Amino acid sequence: MGENGISISDSTVVATVNGQSNALYSINNIIDISNSTVEAYAVADNSYPAIWANALTVSNKSNVTVDSNGDSGIYILNQCKISDSTLKVQGYYDAIFGDNDINIVNSKIESTSTGNQGNYAIYSNDHTISVTGNSDITANAGMDADQIVISPTTGQMLEVKVGNLAEGETGAAHFNDSPYTEPVTFTAADDLWTYTYVHIKPHTHIGGTATCTDPAICDDCGKPYGNALGHKAVKTEAKAPTCTEDGNIENWYCDACGKYFSDEALTEEIIKEKTVIKATGHGETELKNAKEATCTEEGYTGDKVCKVCGEVIEKGTVIEKIAHTFGEWTVTKEPTATEKGEKQHTCTICGYVEKQEIPATGTPTNPSEGNGNSPIGTTDPKAPTSDNQTDNKTVSDTSNNKTNNKDVLNTGDDSSIALWVTVMLGAGAILTGIVLYNRKKRYNK
Ligand SMILES: [Zn+2]
Ligand SMILES: [Zn+2]
Ligand SMILES: [Zn+2]
Ligand SMILES: [Zn+2]
Repeated sequence: MGENGISISDSTVVATVNGQSNALYSINNIIDISNSTVEAYAVADNSYPAIWANALTVSNKSNVTVDSNGDSGIYILNQCKISDSTLKVQGYYDAIFGDNDINIVNSKIESTSTGNQGNYAIYSNDHTISVTGNSDITANAGMDADQIVISPTTGQMLEVKVGNLAEGETGAAHFNDSPYTEPVTFTAADDLWTYTYVHIKPHTHIGGTATCTDPAICDDCGKPYGNALGHKAVKTEAKAPTCTEDGNIENWYCDACGKYFSDEALTEEIIKEKTVIKATGHGETELKNAKEATCTEEGYTGDKVCKVCGEVIEKGTVIEKIAHTFGEWTVTKEPTATEKGEKQHTCTICGYVEKQEIPATGTPTNPSEGNGNSPIGTTDPKAPTSDNQTDNKTVSDTSNNKTNNKDVLNTGDDSSIALWVTVMLGAGAILTGIVLYNRKKRYNK
C-alpha cells in the first residue's frame, strides 16, 4: 500500500503484519503522521521494517509505536523528521534507520535495537542526526551518524549521558562537556558511537549550595549554576584603642562567610587580626592620694595612677602613725610617803597629754619590816640619790624621819635601839643637810 504516500491525520491507526512484509510502506513517497496515534507492527522473524518509506514526517502531538521482529523498526530512504511527538520504536536491526538526515525536534523517542547484531537504536547512514529543543531521546544500543548535532532551545540545556546497554540509565554518565547550552556537533572522532546506551534530554541543574562568592555546583553534572549570593557585609566604624582595650580600623564583616574586608567594595579581604589595633598599654604614671603619717593619723604611700586613663595601676600602703613628740615631764602631784604622785608630759605636735604616776616614797614606818640595818641604808646619803622616788620621799619630810626615829625608839627592837639612838642623835643634823643638798642638785639638772 501507499504508492502515492500515506497521510494519517487526526486519526488512530493500528497496522499489524505477520509475514515478510511492512506494516506501513511507501517506497517512493512520504508517510505523514500528524496529530494521530499510530501503531505499526511487523511481528514475523523474517519481517521487513514495520515502517518503510521514502520520507517520514511525524508531527503535531502524534504518538507512534513501532516494532519489527525481523528488520529495522523504521527505515527511511530520505528525510525523516519527527517533531512535537512521542515515539516508541523497536527493531531487530537499527530501530530507526535513515539513509539521509534524521531530524528530531521537541520530541520524545525511546528506541531499542533488539537483535543484538551490533546495530544502533538510531542510525543515519553517512548523514546527520539532529536533536533539537525540548527533546528526550533514549537510544538502547546507541546512536551513529556522520555527525550528531545537539541544539538546545535558547536558555535551556540538553544533556548527553552515555553508558552501556546492560546497565542503561544506571551506568550512564555525562558525555564530554554535557550538559550543553549551545549547539554542539559530534563526529566520529568524538566516539559517541562507541556507547551502547545514549540518553539525550533536557537538563536542570540541581542541588549544591551557593556561597557569597561562588554559585552552587550541580549535584548531577558538577557544573556551577545560578549566581553567587554576594556578601552581606556590615560596617564596623574605626575605634581608637585605649590603655587596656583594643581598638579597630574601619572594616566590613560578612556574617555569611566570616570574612573581613578593609574596603566598602569588599574587594580587599583581610584577616580579622589585621582589623585590630592593639591596646596601647598604660602611659606615664603619677602618685595620687599620698599622705604623710602624723602622731594622730595614719599616712598613705599613694596610688600609682595612669596619667592617660586614670586607672590605679598599683595601690599604695598604709603608713603607721608616728610617735608623739613629748616635752619634759612635769610633776603635777608630789608623792608622799604614803600617797602616789603624778607627772605628765605633752606632745608638742598634737597636744596629747600622757600621765604617769609616781609611786609613794615608801620610807619605812614600821621597823618590824626590816632587820634594823635597812633604815641605815635609807639614811645613807649615797643610796637615795640613785632613786629619785626614794629621794623625793626622803626629802619630802625630813622631820618625819625624826618622828619615825622616835617611834622606833618607842616601839622598837631592843637590839637596835642603842645604835639608832647613837646614830640619829649624833648624825641627824648632818644627814638632813646632805639630803637637802642632793635634792637641790637634782632639781638643778
Ligand atoms: Zn547540572
Ligand atoms: Zn560573605
Ligand atoms: Zn592607662
Ligand atoms: Zn602627737
